[in-house]
Amino acid sequence: MKYIIVTGGVLSGLGKGITASSIGRLLKGRGLKVTAVKIDPYLNCDAGTMNPYQHGEVYVLNDGGEADLDLGNYERFLDVELSSDHNITTGKVYRTVIERERHGDYLGKTVQIIPHITNEIKERIVRVSEASGADITLVELGGTVGDIESMPFLEAARQLFREAGGEGNCIFVHTTLVPIMGSVGEQKTKPTQHSVKELRAIGIIPDVIVARGEKMLDYDIKRKISLFCDVPLEAVVSAPDANSIYQVPEILDAQGLTDYLLRRMKLDCPKRDMKKWDSFVHSLMNPSGEVEIAIVGKYTELKDSYMSHIEAFHHAAAEAGVKVSLRWLEGEDLESKKPSTLLRGVDGILIPGGFGDRGVEGKINAIRYAREKHIPLLGVCLGFQLAVVEYCRNVLGWKDANSSEFNSKTKYPVIDILPEQKGVKDMGATMRLGAHDIELKQNSIARTLYSGKATISERHRHRYEVNPKFIMEIEKSGLKFTGRSKDGVRMEVAEMAEHPFFVATQFHPEFKSRPEKASRTHLGLVMAAKRYRSRIKARK
Ligand code: GLN
Repeated sequence: MKYIIVTGGVLSGLGKGITASSIGRLLKGRGLKVTAVKIDPYLNCDAGTMNPYQHGEVYVLNDGGEADLDLGNYERFLDVELSSDHNITTGKVYRTVIERERHGDYLGKTVQIIPHITNEIKERIVRVSEASGADITLVELGGTVGDIESMPFLEAARQLFREAGGEGNCIFVHTTLVPIMGSVGEQKTKPTQHSVKELRAIGIIPDVIVARGEKMLDYDIKRKISLFCDVPLEAVVSAPDANSIYQVPEILDAQGLTDYLLRRMKLDCPKRDMKKWDSFVHSLMNPSGEVEIAIVGKYTELKDSYMSHIEAFHHAAAEAGVKVSLRWLEGEDLESKKPSTLLRGVDGILIPGGFGDRGVEGKINAIRYAREKHIPLLGVCLGFQLAVVEYCRNVLGWKDANSSEFNSKTKYPVIDILPEQKGVKDMGATMRLGAHDIELKQNSIARTLYSGKATISERHRHRYEVNPKFIMEIEKSGLKFTGRSKDGVRMEVAEMAEHPFFVATQFHPEFKSRPEKASRTHLGLVMAAKRYRSRIKARK
């Protein structure tokens, strides 16, 4: 069992997660089994109650864990399925320790950060690592060295180094920023020097320094970092801005990082197999043709709020051989301005998930526009629910049809709270969450998208559902529910046959999208957008 612990210095948001995932992908390419643990030093027990504007999207795992979006990067880069145990937060750690204390497990001892909190942190890391059976566990420590919140985790990491067998079994990778200053564009190493100094003061000696920056490090700058930070020259690695995050593994590999890490860990894995990955990156970077997809959302100012959708479109783009450009629209803007103006020229529309009523009417306007103008549409979760609402209002003529999330008095609550949600008071981890099986009807678009599979498994995060009382009547006309939960009670997919592509899902297909296997529905939308664009072109 070996560990690679990734810390960050200078400032947050340097893309530590991408660095760590890329290292993982490279080691996987050498035939090793790799897993990942993400540590978030905040006090929340999980990311489920956090506003997407603060931390980006809430990523949902198979077991229903609501996690930091970096878990998504690990799943995508490593093509693994992680559980909520792979996301450790201060809240989770303290909750366990305090519950144990109340239970009397510490037998009268004074319960302290060292050793009780640090032990709990180490135990959690080791447990996950053992359960996964991985050769290498990547541990990414969120936040920046020097933060008060990070201290117990860094201390635990320091202890883990010894307990894991020291040199060769536990490697520290420190990511920093090398900014460029002045008119001559000088690369500055001082912030890196300072953050390494801080790390050393805690007792952690970095083995590798990954320097983020606009450009590759100049040779002299690499030497300077090597000298001042006491790291071998070959262990100072540049991570310049890349056009795509999927190019990062190759950028690191080309500088010899994989070989260096393997040598340090005394692992002999000379055979490199990254064929599928490389061909994905090649297709992604060399598209022929382009489609434009509008995303009508609520948190579009911070694109990280829709991270998994963005990545699913990258995966779909590579598989479809086109470039997918995204047009970001706020639902609210589609209330004051005409959909025909804001959506002019798009080849497809995505209505993603969301909570709360801001922008909902604008999203409904966008769905109506897509339905009437035959523009390919994919609705996800809230997007699915609103597609049903729009249909009931404008096709079935139930004027005030709505979700009871937005109007509790409507005569037509076509979307209503899940029965088991009615008594729920706590907000954390109480939705219908995680992977559930879905049965797909024969001869449906959904079944075709999923290559003929009768049963699929996708991830969920919702409190509301299609109201069973209205299903029969809705289905009498054009909108059909072609995907249902195993017991037939929950509606999971809605689609319209008399439309080039009108598919909406209660589940979130974006969470299982992978570079080497794009989300089937996102790919379906992109393919339909491709057809739509060529038809428009032919008409001109
Ligand atoms: N607000 C809706 C619900 O709770 C949709 C949730 C979502 O889009 N993730 O059911």
